[in-house]
Amino acid sequence: MNPQDAWNAAFSQLEIQLDRASFETWLRGAVLLGYEDGFFRVGVRNDYARSMLEHRLYRSVRRTLCDVFGQPAELRFEVHTPIRVEDTASVDLPLFSLLAQQQQQQEQTVDQPRIPLHEQIARPQRPNLPDCELNPRFTFENFVVANSNQFAYAAAQAVATDPANAYNPLFIYGGVGLGKTHLLHAIGHVCHSRGQRVVYISSEAFTNDLIDAIRQRETALFREKYRSADVLLMDDVQFIAGKESTQEEFFHTFNALRNFGKHVVIVGDRHPRELDTLNDRLRSRFESGLIVDVGLPDLESRVAILQMWARERKMDVPRSVYIMMAERASTNLRELEGQFNQLCARTHLSTQRLTAENAEIILDNFARPREHVTLGRVLEVTAQHYNIDVMDLTGTGRATRINNARQVAIYLAREVVGASLPQIGEVFGGRSHSTILHSYNKIAAAIEVDDNQRSEINAVRDAIARR
Ligand code: ADP
Ligand code: MG
Repeated sequence: MNPQDAWNAAFSQLEIQLDRASFETWLRGAVLLGYEDGFFRVGVRNDYARSMLEHRLYRSVRRTLCDVFGQPAELRFEVHTPIRVEDTASVDLPLFSLLAQQQQQQEQTVDQPRIPLHEQIARPQRPNLPDCELNPRFTFENFVVANSNQFAYAAAQAVATDPANAYNPLFIYGGVGLGKTHLLHAIGHVCHSRGQRVVYISSEAFTNDLIDAIRQRETALFREKYRSADVLLMDDVQFIAGKESTQEEFFHTFNALRNFGKHVVIVGDRHPRELDTLNDRLRSRFESGLIVDVGLPDLESRVAILQMWARERKMDVPRSVYIMMAERASTNLRELEGQFNQLCARTHLSTQRLTAENAEIILDNFARPREHVTLGRVLEVTAQHYNIDVMDLTGTGRATRINNARQVAIYLAREVVGASLPQIGEVFGGRSHSTILHSYNKIAAAIEVDDNQRSEINAVRDAIARR
């Protein structure tokens, strides 16, 4: 497979593997800039995404890419700003890079005094910020209305078209891949086109943003950013459950916006009353508005969704393939979309006519788990790589070289085989599960910061996968 095809296929797989908010925030818009000597140069939207991809998501991205590419490779991320023709008048920077810019500017000017959290409740002046990026495909026009989502759709439309008279907040909940983020972005598009300031954020990104703001003493700026929204769209709120200061901050943001007659829409994976560690004040706020759920659309609607995707991609797909795929998708549309992308990528590369039979074969191959790797294989390959004996690896010798190799083997036993801590402990000479966890964590942390260690471990991992 050539590097461009490998990147396209890996990109569509990552879209399924990562949760939607992470994908949208860090990877959406990433493009292959070039391939040289085993390195994929990938352009991403901003510095924040680059650093996130290099440090936190590197392994998942690399693993997926190497799997498709069929050979080892590394990645280099670069900030790359595509020129957007339709939007040359306004500076269309993503929220995060803008925040980073502002922080830089503030750092250069005054050292802000520390203002305690929640103090500033007055509505901030509308700062000169552009609106956030929304997925252009997630519109109301592209949303297929079915029994399972019609109330959520109607409520979302009401917020989008007549916010003053709609329920506030609107809380949409449901399982993974059922169109919640899609509806949230659809509301965003309509409000944005009316000239309103839309802030879309996942609760995880909100948390990180708050942590950064506190660390850098920029809480005033943080508050200004969220409280100057006309519409705040908070995705995957379940991730703030249990995080006290984030909940506290969100509670105040929420109240401030409501006091100014602004709209808040929240998405979660379950009903607020089932979000166990959500604080009561926030729960009762959520419950004071309208709560709607989304479920899996029926078979005919799933076929209609597939037909829409095929039209978008100008694919000619026989009806029997739609039905076969829609029948297989019994829980989740995100998975269905991933399968459809995979099918497009594969049929694009082949000259064979697409039929239900060969489509099923492609999808089966796609779904098949990786070949089973045993603990024995991890020990054998790691020992070979470090040029030591398997007995040394599982023994008690404390020489640095052996100790390091042992920690790597422990790490890979967990990562590649998925073995439990007691299982690994037993293989490594009856070590306790906390000793195993300590070794695992040590390597996991080293990988994030140490390029050499990372490539070393990737080399062992590749050797394990080779037969
Ligand atoms: P969630 O946020 O609930 O996990 P998403 O909104 O990310 O799910 O939806 C997963 C995929 O399925 C997206 O590509 C979305 O566009 C698509 N999708 C979900 N529901 C519908 C629908 N009713 N009509 C068209 N596409 C849909
Ligand atoms: Mg989502």
